[in-house]
Order: sequence, then structure tokens, then C-alpha cells
Amino acid sequence: MSVKVAIVTGSNKGIGLAIVRALCKQFQGDVYITSRDVGRGEEAVKSLSSEGLNPKFHQLDINDLSSITAAAAFFKKKYGGVDILINNAGIAFKEGDQTPFAVQAEVILKTNFFATRDLLTHFLPLIKAGGRVVNVSSLWSAWALKDCSPALQQRFRSEDITEDELVRLMQRFVTESQKGKHKEDGWPEKAYGVSKTGLTTLSMIQARRLSKERPNDGILLNACCPGWVRTDMAGDKATKSPDEGAITPVYLALLPPGTTEPQGKFISEKEVQPW
Ligand code: NDP
Repeated sequence: MSVKVAIVTGSNKGIGLAIVRALCKQFQGDVYITSRDVGRGEEAVKSLSSEGLNPKFHQLDINDLSSITAAAAFFKKKYGGVDILINNAGIAFKEGDQTPFAVQAEVILKTNFFATRDLLTHFLPLIKAGGRVVNVSSLWSAWALKDCSPALQQRFRSEDITEDELVRLMQRFVTESQKGKHKEDGWPEKAYGVSKTGLTTLSMIQARRLSKERPNDGILLNACCPGWVRTDMAGDKATKSPDEGAITPVYLALLPPGTTEPQGKFISEKEVQPW
């Protein structure tokens, strides 16, 4: 039987590294640390090797289309596809950062929404039957959604929103922020939250599409919140260790064969959350 493979984006540190640690212990197959920086990725491999684990490494910068296509070609050639994909790479500005809101909006959405979507565009066709895709979103996605205008909320919650419409909405948020008019246009003052509203909604759209286009393949795709986790992003006051933050993403990645739910849901603490 061919070797199975799991890939975690942005896994040289933080929650991503903890997800790789857990998968190395629980998943029967190769597990890849991916990192935009080769040096940081190799250091991460060394740190897990010193724990007696055996992750592999591939360079992957989700903001770089050539890096995405090179990685996709590598996994297609070596494994014939991908069994588990965890989209964990993400960015945030620190609270109190003085960077103008319009710049934060553009930079955050570029990585958390547009680049993650680019990655999914190239990797979803590679997901094998029985595969699992987990998008690490945030409870902020639901909080930002509640602060959107009723018209926007209706679109993000609707079952007929398309990926193109979602992309246009995310672009509109960035453009309106640059004009200083995002509030008048119905958006909250939450760039990170809106980026994750986009990611959670994208997960729902793509899961519906997978169920329709590949009904017999049993692929499950969900978004989740890892909780408030002590990492460079969230700081040392957060309540969970990275290993604790990895629990829900890993649970979704390892849903047993034949499982049909959750599909296209937003999960926190292993529970489906309202949207
Ligand atoms: P960290 O800042 O510790 O780690 C983020 C990881 O993403 C790093 O490995 C970083 O790489 C990588 N990354 C950023 N941009 C790119 C890119 N363009 N290509 C590839 N990798 C990239 O954050 P966390 O571990 O806390 O966050 C992981 C995920 O969890 C994020 O999506 C975050 O939004 C989400 N999350 C985190 C929460 C928390 O409390 N910590 C709460 C809710 C959600 P590099 O080292 O090169 O910068």
C-alpha cells in the first residue's frame, strides 16, 4: 500500500509545530513540517527529532505561488496526492500596533484569506479519497461575523454564496478600508476577524462543493478554532499550551474512515459552533 502523507502549513513553530508533533505520534504515514524559511523549518525538524519523532520537511510559502505549485508538484509525484492537509499558516498584528488599519487589512487578508485560498486551489485537487482538510480559523471569525451588517451576515451564512462572491466580498473589505469607508459599508473594525470570517466561509463553500463534485470520496473539510494558545502570535498570557491548541485540529484531521460529519462546519473544542 502507498505511504500516506500529512502536510501542515506554517509549522516551524507555534500551533503548527504542535500539530506536527501530535500527527507524528498518531498518524500512520509521513508528516511534513512546511515553512516559508528553510532554516527555520530545518531547526523545527531537529527539535522534533530530539524528541524521538521523525517529521519530514518541504519549503512552502503560501504567499508565493511558485512555492505553492512546486510543493503541489512534489507531493503529487512522491505520494500521488495528499491524505491530510492542515492550513495553519496565519498572521496577526499585535494589539496596539500603530500600522494603519487599511494596511493591516490588506496584509492580514493577503495571507490569512487570499494565500490560504491559493494553497487550497492547488492542493484540493490532490486530496485523496478519504482525505481530511482542516483550516485553522478562529473564534474571531464568528465574532467579526456578528459585527457585520445584516446584509453581509446573510451572505456569509447563505448556502448559495460562491467562492467568487466571497473573494469579491473580501476584496471589497480591503478596498473600503483603504478608502476609510469600511464601517459605512457594513464591516467591523476587525481585520484579523474578517480574514477568518472569510476563511470559515470558504471552508463551508468548499466542503459543499466537495460533497457535490466528489460524493463518493468521503473527504471531510472543516474550519476550527484552536483556542487561545501561548505562541508568538497570542503571547504568554494565553490559556492553552501549543499541544493543547493542536487537539481540535488533530481531531478533525484524524476523523476515522467512513465518518460523514462534521463536514463544512466551524469547530471549537471538538464541538460544532453556531455560524
Ligand atoms: P505563530 O505566529 O506562532 O505561527 C504562525 C506560523 O505561520 C509560523 O510558522 C509562520 O512562519 C507561519 N506563516 C506565516 N505566514 C506564512 C506564509 N506566508 N507561508 C508559510 N507560513 C507562514 O502563530 P500561532 O501558532 O499562534 O497560529 C497558528 C494559526 O492559529 C494561525 O492561523 C492563527 O491565526 C490561528 N489561531 C491562533 C490562536 C492563538 O491563540 N495562538 C487563536 C486562534 C487562531 P514564520 O515563522 O516564518 O513567521
